[in-house]
Amino acid sequence: MKKLFHYLNPIAHLGERKYSIVLPLAVMLFFCLSSELFAYQIAKDPMIVGMYAILIPIAFIIYFAFREGIKGGTIATIITILYYFYIIYTRHYQGNQLNSAIETTIILAFVYFSMSSIIGWLKQTIDTLIERESDERQRLEAIIQQLPVGILLTDKEARLLHQNKQIEQILGIKFPSKFHFGKDEPLLKGSLDGKQVKASEAPLGYVITKGRAIVNREYAFQRNDNAVKYLQVSASPIRNRHGKIIAAAQIITDITHQKELEKQKDDFLSMASHELKTPITSMKMFIDLQTRQLQTIKSEKARYYNERIKDQANRLKELTNDLLDVSRIQTGKLRFTKEDFDLTEIVTDTVEGLSGTTKKHKLFLKGKTKTIISGDRYRIYQVIVNLITNAIKYSPNGNKVNVAIKKINNYAIVSVQDFGIGIKKDQHHKIFDRLYQVTDPNEKTYPGLGLGLYISKEIIERHHGKIWVESEPGKGATFLFKLPLKKKS
Ligand code: ADP
Repeated sequence: MKKLFHYLNPIAHLGERKYSIVLPLAVMLFFCLSSELFAYQIAKDPMIVGMYAILIPIAFIIYFAFREGIKGGTIATIITILYYFYIIYTRHYQGNQLNSAIETTIILAFVYFSMSSIIGWLKQTIDTLIERESDERQRLEAIIQQLPVGILLTDKEARLLHQNKQIEQILGIKFPSKFHFGKDEPLLKGSLDGKQVKASEAPLGYVITKGRAIVNREYAFQRNDNAVKYLQVSASPIRNRHGKIIAAAQIITDITHQKELEKQKDDFLSMASHELKTPITSMKMFIDLQTRQLQTIKSEKARYYNERIKDQANRLKELTNDLLDVSRIQTGKLRFTKEDFDLTEIVTDTVEGLSGTTKKHKLFLKGKTKTIISGDRYRIYQVIVNLITNAIKYSPNGNKVNVAIKKINNYAIVSVQDFGIGIKKDQHHKIFDRLYQVTDPNEKTYPGLGLGLYISKEIIERHHGKIWVESEPGKGATFLFKLPLKKKS
């Protein structure tokens, strides 16, 4: 029954561009035959005559034009008109009756042909549009399926409309159709920064309710086969021309392999820096012993060489310490001691200490009042050293570095200003990333690993402070950090 209804329903055939003449031909012939068979009974009632002669053919013409296009409508019209002529001929009309019957038939033929052509043309235009849209959808579908990332598309209520095969490959599950993101319980156990993700925090639900996109958020997911997958997720609401949300899309990238490589790299870094620490410590010890021995002999050259070895050993020690710190940050093992100390004193000592390391640059210090903060004295010292040595290193043509300390709104602010190569605006954030170094083919390359600012940022942020840079290329750079002052008890 359902099949028959589907077969007869003209709307169900919209988009099909196959137009048959068999069905209209068969039905119309059957209609003519049956009206001839029952002609005697029909003729008794003028209402039924009218219906049979006019209304039913009109209904058939509309139906076939809408179902089979211009061809179907035309066939239905031709058979109807021929049937009208057959009636005129077989009923032996005479005189005025014959004339008016022929006139009416010609007018009806004109009306029927126009009607069937217009409806048939409309139907064929709709079919072409539907086909074009479906081709478009197919093309999009092929692209979505070929993409190497998982894609989820939902309607404006965050109910699943579409998912590609990568979703199943990555997550090990297929979402049921109409899955309601943000409402239905997640099918996977996922965590973000170690916290379990609740149904209401599902990215697709979130972007639709908040109307904001999520960019490259990382999740760790445990699949049902217990494999842990690291995912990078971006989701965004899709709006129409009027800015109304009509859908949402989510892209899932499997970054498990990348994460594993990163972990291997971190493990290696940690192991290598630990292993390097012991020989460097004994090397430094022997250099100190040798320094004392060399004081007893007269060779200036030997003492000079010894000093250079000592410098390089110190540099090696600093690099190893940086590597160790980075691996501690990565594993959450960077520990801080806490004591109250005067930041101004540390800054002053550092400026004095580093003044002797550069002949070209003069270090100026502004700000003398006591600035008591609470935290790890050595680690804060490490940040100041890093900023001042960078200021010297990255201003080969400059001759001064200004260091200042001041108090503003319960914060101590330290600034280190140089007049060197400067930093482009788009790099201001990136330079605080791990292993990031500005590489400009036009500039000379400076030695370093790109770890100092990353470690400094971690230290300052763990002290509830902030570190940033103000700079323009060619005009030097000012690095600033602020730390909360110790509250007066
Ligand atoms: P490193 O100096 O060992 O490369 P850092 O983390 O200390 O690593 O600095 C990261 C990058 O930031 C440097 O490679 C350099 O490109 C840029 N940078 C840091 N300080 C300055 C500065 N004072 N002027 C210009 N560029 C700087």
